[in-house]
Amino acid sequence: MAIRLLDDRVVSQIAAGEVVERPASVVKELVENALDAGATFIQIEIAESGRRRIQVNDDGTGISLDDAPLAVTRHATSKLVSADDLSHIETLGFRGEALSSIAAVSRLTLTSRHRDDEVGLRLRIEGGELLEQAKVGAPVGTMIAVENLFFNTPARKKFLKSDTTEKRVINQIVMNYAMAYPHVRFVLLHDDREVFRSPGTGNFADVVVKVVGLSQFRQMVEVSGQDVVRGHGGTIRVRGFVSEPNLNRKDRTRITLFVNGRAIQDSSLSYAVSQAYHTLLPKGRYPYGVLLIQVPPEIVDVNVHPTKAEVRFEDASVIFSAVQRAVRDVIIGYSQPSLANRRQHSDYNRDWQDEPRLRASQLDFDFDVSDPANQPFEYGGQSQSSVEEGEDQPQRVRTLPVLRVLGQIGAAYIVTEGPAGMYLIDQHGAHQRILYESFKAVLDEADTLVTQPIDTQTIDVSVAENQAIQAHDEMLKRLGFELESFGINTYALRSVPVELAHGDVISGLAHLLEKLQERIDFDTLLMHLADIVAVKRGVILSQDDMQSLIRELEYTPSPKFDAFGDTVILHFSSEQIARQFRT
Ligand code: ADP
Ligand code: MG
Repeated sequence: MAIRLLDDRVVSQIAAGEVVERPASVVKELVENALDAGATFIQIEIAESGRRRIQVNDDGTGISLDDAPLAVTRHATSKLVSADDLSHIETLGFRGEALSSIAAVSRLTLTSRHRDDEVGLRLRIEGGELLEQAKVGAPVGTMIAVENLFFNTPARKKFLKSDTTEKRVINQIVMNYAMAYPHVRFVLLHDDREVFRSPGTGNFADVVVKVVGLSQFRQMVEVSGQDVVRGHGGTIRVRGFVSEPNLNRKDRTRITLFVNGRAIQDSSLSYAVSQAYHTLLPKGRYPYGVLLIQVPPEIVDVNVHPTKAEVRFEDASVIFSAVQRAVRDVIIGYSQPSLANRRQHSDYNRDWQDEPRLRASQLDFDFDVSDPANQPFEYGGQSQSSVEEGEDQPQRVRTLPVLRVLGQIGAAYIVTEGPAGMYLIDQHGAHQRILYESFKAVLDEADTLVTQPIDTQTIDVSVAENQAIQAHDEMLKRLGFELESFGINTYALRSVPVELAHGDVISGLAHLLEKLQERIDFDTLLMHLADIVAVKRGVILSQDDMQSLIRELEYTPSPKFDAFGDTVILHFSSEQIARQFRT
């Protein structure tokens, strides 16, 4: 086979594969172009997760009549002239391949009018081929519509992720730019419904609130790092918001970083952020954060990857420590009061928690045949129980021997005595198991848990939380939440599960919404609700509270473990205790 130069069209399609991976990459490139053109308003309309149509309107400078056809030609850019320019890039685009690549794999319509022109121009391109070019009346600015993405590259089309995933990625990209450009007003619509809007006030915090939702924003603190001065007069500046230590999650996906206005992925820098929390977060938990990192353009190379999602620094360790220090400075301040709080309860509490967990099996935990107290209990009369049971109601089956409450230790564990020795009971785990079982029993009979009306609260949620609410509104209703849409990403909360009514309703709901974003089934959600409303460790209980908790536990299925499988009861047999004293 002879070696031939590739046809131009094939070359563009190959290049397109690098830049245009998915609908979200189109959104990204078009938004970047609008920002580079100095837009103050950018509207993004998506139809069918971008498969059918992606349209971006901006009020930027527009493209002049002569330049428009060039704009969709490969390696045509107005932003970069020589290779020298590459070393100090201050625009988002510079490779001049986005528009031509997108045009190569879609049906693209570009309408633009430069602010110095009287009339605008419209181009229609399909699969890289110019079909139409006409002068049209148009407002100053640019509108680009991309339809039927990947219509001529079926392989690429096949590998698109689910609609929800595509939408999520698109939302994230738009929200990222909205945060990085707070003076620009962004509007995002999916299938004609507005899902996000940034105010364009120029105030970074105003946008962050819209992105993370008010309940989370309340738990974030501002980072305003000291300028780190580098050699030739350039400075490194880190500012933004990070979560207080008690707001955390299981991975680093909620750490968003911008370098010179560009959202980047850099595992080393997100490590720097979580590293700043040091011992303040439990193992395997990570903070939330949105950080704007400003560095002199000449020390960062953005031309590492076609999608420009990664950057390389001349001296990565300087940036790393600037980020870590900036975050650490505010976290230190915010962590001490809460640590002090925790100590207040008693040193007991801490000692218990620091102790390696004892395994139930190590303590010959055994309620089975050998223990007479564990024989199915013949329940005669109502003497022991406050629970009145009607004649034909199924009798509740005793699952534990009768336990007498002796006291509480560390404001967390209930000490009881039973027929076969001492039983130490984790108050939180016990209550959580009781609630979970009772929720299940209620749902066996009714459609929803018992709900309680509350004074209506208006809550702002993040876009992701909003999606979770919409996707799982049935589950939330079954739990007893009555939420009514009240504008974009705002809800009126009118009733809640009765057990939550006197607790922190907002953070309880926020916790469940976080779980719902992780695709869980209803039963697991029920466990989380039980976990949220169950009495916490660290709460001092009266003798009566403890006794009634234990009474309930005695009739609860599977009392030895909580709903998540953690140990609730440690049993020390009388023999074991005696043996310990004899040795
Ligand atoms: P790049 O952004 O890397 O220069 P693109 O292919 O994305 O390359 O765009 C090519 C050129 O088209 C840009 O350099 C710019 O001159 C022009 N252009 C694209 N989109 C817009 C827009 N929304 N407003 C003004 N000019 C635009
Ligand atoms: Mg571009």
